[in-house]
Amino acid sequence: MKKCMIIGCGGVASVAIHKCCQNSEVFEGIMIASRTKSKCDALKEKLQPNTKTIIETAQVDADNVDELIALIESYKPDVVLNLALPYQDLTIMDACLATKTHYVDTANYEPLDTAKFEYKWQWAYRERFEKAGITALLGSGFDPGVTGVFSAYALKHEFDEINYIDILDCNGGDHGYPFATNFNPEINIREVSAKGSYIENGKWVETEPMEIKRVYNFKGVGEKDMYLLHHEELESLALNIKGIKRIRFFMTFGQSYLTHLKCLENVGMTSIEPIMYEGREIVPLQFLKAVLPDPASLGPRTVGKTNIGCIFQGKKDGKDKTYYLYNICDHQECYKEVGSQAISYTTGVPAMIGAMMIMTGQWNKAGVYNIEEFDPDPFMDALNKWGLPWEEDRNPVLVD
Ligand code: NDP
Repeated sequence: MKKCMIIGCGGVASVAIHKCCQNSEVFEGIMIASRTKSKCDALKEKLQPNTKTIIETAQVDADNVDELIALIESYKPDVVLNLALPYQDLTIMDACLATKTHYVDTANYEPLDTAKFEYKWQWAYRERFEKAGITALLGSGFDPGVTGVFSAYALKHEFDEINYIDILDCNGGDHGYPFATNFNPEINIREVSAKGSYIENGKWVETEPMEIKRVYNFKGVGEKDMYLLHHEELESLALNIKGIKRIRFFMTFGQSYLTHLKCLENVGMTSIEPIMYEGREIVPLQFLKAVLPDPASLGPRTVGKTNIGCIFQGKKDGKDKTYYLYNICDHQECYKEVGSQAISYTTGVPAMIGAMMIMTGQWNKAGVYNIEEFDPDPFMDALNKWGLPWEEDRNPVLVD
């Protein structure tokens, strides 16, 4: 029986689990293992009556390698899909190594005390995964994830070399709150309050947070302000896509979100430095997470669409060429299908597909790889089949 162990049972995991249950031919068995077992049990109760996938649940502290090893040894999954937080990436990779089990995640490791997204910690496992004969697939969400698959696809079918990539992540959704984050608030705020950066001619160029702003008219959404952010896939794509001269990442933010964020920053609420409060050490950002709306609760209230994709500029047969690949996803449609908004949906679907690529052997090479290092074609087909159809534009408006 083909089995997948899913670690974490939050917003993204819930979508991936729904999708695994729709795809019982591949996912004959899944184990949902997370810190709070009651969440895993509730999801099992909801999904088991309507799926052939046999669902098991377990409690696990994914910071504890021995606990993970014991659980993996008892369930014997073909692959572990890590949908906990980036802080758990290395302990889960250690447990996969010890049990010779394939590994998939959606976000790169980040130490708790430094908000810095880098692949160096996970790339350091390359030789050990190769020797163990197992695969680690890094970054199988939307961005990173589908953006890497889009890049590999564009290079394979449309270009001889790609010189410029602009990744545009637009969330045109409205949840009606003055301030809330669409996924884990701690991870989200760490990401957007960090300095921006992009890669030009092989070097990182750093900007102040939100320093570079552009306006773009997104199909399905309309005109939005977007800001240049640091994003983890820039690092791997700059190495893996032939001919890259510049690669940037932009994300849209509404004015209300930015004004609230600025205020929270100014009063110190987004800090990750622990402080003493009434005799107890607390991290302001973690406290803020506790008072903000739970991203999972945004599903029923969010209306509108997301549009995420990549604009490529490069050369084909000696001629300049531009090409835009993107997906439009509707918050309410996602909610109807799996009970989550589009941000969790656009991450959870590719997470399921990444695990499927490994379980079916369509992607099969030992070592630690970013997603663009695999053949994009079966993944692109699966996106169309499993709820994230892509569109192309051969004459897109460029970002200056
Ligand atoms: P949530 O906070 O909703 O869920 C995280 C889950 O992990 C929770 O169920 C939590 O348990 C569990 N967890 C946390 N720590 C541990 C631990 N030590 N042991 C076991 N379980 C643990 O986050 P999201 O679902 O929004 O995000 C999940 C991942 O997806 C993150 O890594 C995020 O960075 C990534 N992501 C990637 C995107 C992409 O496009 N590539 C986009 C969006 C997110 P509990 O229920 O007890 O809190």
